Amino acid sequence: MADVAVIGGGIVGLAIADELLRVHPDLAVEVHEKESAVAQHASGRNSGVLHAGFYYSPDSMKARLTRVGNALLREFCAERGIPVRDTGKVVVTRNASELPRLHDLHQRGLANGVELELVDERGLLELEPLARTTETALWSPTTGSADPVAVAQQLAARVAERGGRVLVGSAVHAAGPGWITDDGGYRRVGHVVNAAGLHADTVARWFGVGEEYRMLPFKGLYWYGDWPAGRLMRHVYPVPDPRNPFLGVHLTVAADGRAKIGPTAIPALSREAYSGLDGLSVGQAWDVARTLPRFLTSPHHDARALVASEVPKYLHSRLVREAAELVPSVRPADFRIKGRPGIRAQLFDTSRNRLEMDFVVRQGPRSTHVLNAVSPGWTTAFAMAREIVQSWEPT
Ligand SMILES: Cc1cc2nc3c(=O)[nH]c(=O)nc-3n(C[C@H](O)[C@H](O)[C@H](O)COP(=O)(O)OP(=O)(O)OC[C@H]3O[C@@H](n4cnc5c(N)ncnc54)[C@H](O)[C@@H]3O)c2cc1C
Repeated sequence: MADVAVIGGGIVGLAIADELLRVHPDLAVEVHEKESAVAQHASGRNSGVLHAGFYYSPDSMKARLTRVGNALLREFCAERGIPVRDTGKVVVTRNASELPRLHDLHQRGLANGVELELVDERGLLELEPLARTTETALWSPTTGSADPVAVAQQLAARVAERGGRVLVGSAVHAAGPGWITDDGGYRRVGHVVNAAGLHADTVARWFGVGEEYRMLPFKGLYWYGDWPAGRLMRHVYPVPDPRNPFLGVHLTVAADGRAKIGPTAIPALSREAYSGLDGLSVGQAWDVARTLPRFLTSPHHDARALVASEVPKYLHSRLVREAAELVPSVRPADFRIKGRPGIRAQLFDTSRNRLEMDFVVRQGPRSTHVLNAVSPGWTTAFAMAREIVQSWEPT
């Protein structure tokens, strides 16, 4: 019998399994991943940005975990020989009206203990000659990039080296306190860790946890440029709208030095509908259709503006035009290579009538549930795993 069954072979499930085995080497830990390999969803389809931690409200889990998570992820990459590209990041303003929000972001970052600096237009050009700002930009030296698939694969290898079992092609069909069923049938387990990403709300409900949440998936599309590696040196981001949990279309430098534009934040009808009708589920589309009107009328977000600005970004030309407000030399013809889209496991809280902005970790009967593992969940995974395992009591 497994002492701990982890549902989900993304970065979060793997990091929790790894940390459990580091702290409690005698535990029998198994990770169940329904796909034929780890990191087939958000953990292998994200921007690969190691965030610094300046966006988040100081009292949030995101703020608490990002700076530490960034350091732990770098440590892991160094140990396993995975290159980290030290790009840093500049946040630029498109017009003077964005300056107060840029200064708020600076203050927020300082409150979160993040290394940050305000630079003028000349200073920006020294850091990133291709970017433009109005008067001032924010410089974050600790932001970086790494290959998320390489990270997950190496983490799965370390779980196995520590004596854990990573079972791919192993979907968990149902679970409850002290048991799971997979293709092999009913099995007793000690504790269940729910790290099921886009399906974490469903798994939580099996345990009576997080009933107030509904999944509102948002798709992110990417376009790679054909620029030589390293032409763009820094990640270039706009000032985000604090009422929405997304950062706006930006340019990032991948671990291999290629520049890419994205991701968009377009409402998706199903959790794994990455392209066309593939992955479309009528039941999930119905759930989204029931939740979307509540989001659109929520007083806590500018949801109509968000949807109105995001949907046109399906158009390549529109997306590139927006990126060109940050880096004017970006041309549609140069950014024609489609990246793998990703879908965010964004939850809507029906009790507060708003999108959940923070990570949610809940204990249930003989179970631990990681909900709303949205960005920067890749950066924070090792730090979150530490926190969960520190307060974990065997059942
Ligand atoms: C477009 C996009 C860009 C992002 N960019 C960044 C970024 O630059 N930096 C950053 O820090 N974060 C970023 N994020 C967020 C980050 O990718 C996620 O927070 C993180 O990957 C979540 O990891 P996870 O393990 O919880 O989820 P996932 O990677 O989705 O893993 C969950 C796994 O559970 C499996 N599963 C589900 N149900 C079952 C079941 N019943 N049985 C067995 N297996 C099951 C799934 O197949 C999946 O592999 C981004 C996310 C998206 C979508």
